[in-house]
Amino acid sequence: MVHNFNAGPSILPKCVFEEASQAVLNYNQSGLSILEIGHRTPTFQAIMDEARALLKELMKLDDDHEVLFLHGGASTQFMQIPMNLLDEKDAAAYTDTGVWSIKAIKEAKLFGKVEVVCSGKDNNYTAIPKDFAVPNDAKYFHITTNNTIYGSQWQKIPVTSNVMIADMSSDILSREMDFNAFGLIYAGAQKNIGAAGVNVVIVNKNILGKTKRAIPTIMDYRNHVKEGSMLNTPPVFAVYVCMLTLRWLKEQGGVAAIEKINNQKAALLYKEIDDNPLFKGTIAVEDRSKMNVCFIMNDPALEEPFLAFSKQRGINGIKGHRLSGGFRASLYNALPLSSVEYLVQTMKEFASLQ
Ligand SMILES: *Cc1c(COP(=O)(O)O)cnc(C)c1O
Repeated sequence: MVHNFNAGPSILPKCVFEEASQAVLNYNQSGLSILEIGHRTPTFQAIMDEARALLKELMKLDDDHEVLFLHGGASTQFMQIPMNLLDEKDAAAYTDTGVWSIKAIKEAKLFGKVEVVCSGKDNNYTAIPKDFAVPNDAKYFHITTNNTIYGSQWQKIPVTSNVMIADMSSDILSREMDFNAFGLIYAGAQKNIGAAGVNVVIVNKNILGKTKRAIPTIMDYRNHVKEGSMLNTPPVFAVYVCMLTLRWLKEQGGVAAIEKINNQKAALLYKEIDDNPLFKGTIAVEDRSKMNVCFIMNDPALEEPFLAFSKQRGINGIKGHRLSGGFRASLYNALPLSSVEYLVQTMKEFASLQ
């Protein structure tokens, strides 16, 4: 058995893999594969409607908030957001918590002014910035709620009077939050919602239509809202896998229930990192991510042997991001507690052999 700690694309529930593979062969006994049905058929319309409804329900979204399933990954949102919301004369406020936020900042600068209100750069992104102010007139305020590469996470979302925008690619649906407080939330599906190839965007429709810029049809959120994410052919299979994963999450008891398990998983692994003399956490304790747990070894010469030891024991995907080195264990919703227990056991056993 393989325990999969990949950062993304990442583990999904086993029942989702089983049902999706069956659907590729024969969707709902229709004699047709999910891959060969038209997106405007009642069959696919029902899938899209259910995926949207489940997300609204799980996130407790109000009627102002629309759910979109779009192409292009979270990276397309880096540019689509300022294109829709920022005029050239205006400024937007961004927090800099590492690679993904830097990419978002770079794209926003193509459309308007950007004020970086805080940065974790001075401490190599090992902590979430504290004590900063956001100008009232900033058109919006952007944060990256979980920093996948470093393993840092905003434990408390800073609430401002601006339109709030969040890249939640690596922690959406992992913890309870007032999602209605946001003007726009976006997330590539491949970390915590489903298969790669689709991007979830949740937008408060009241923030749209306020810029003077002419927006290309396919980039204008209003068109996607109007067409129910069917302006053009949606990523049919990826939306289907999202729907299955959302069904699974609902069966688990929803976001509150999965948050409890996520807390348990993270607490267990961080405890071992802190207690085991071989290992060391890399992020300020109060800012540690519950989704991506990053750590190193006190003796760097032991990192390769530990990686080989864990690989041999069926542990997959714990090598750290190429920018940060060390290790990263991603504990997304679908990763069972038993896999974390197994990793902890492996760390103990490796230590006992030294
Ligand atoms: C993975 C990730 C992205 C990039 O997502 P793509 O779908 O590959 O464009 C952006 N932001 C965060 C926080 C991520 O973890």
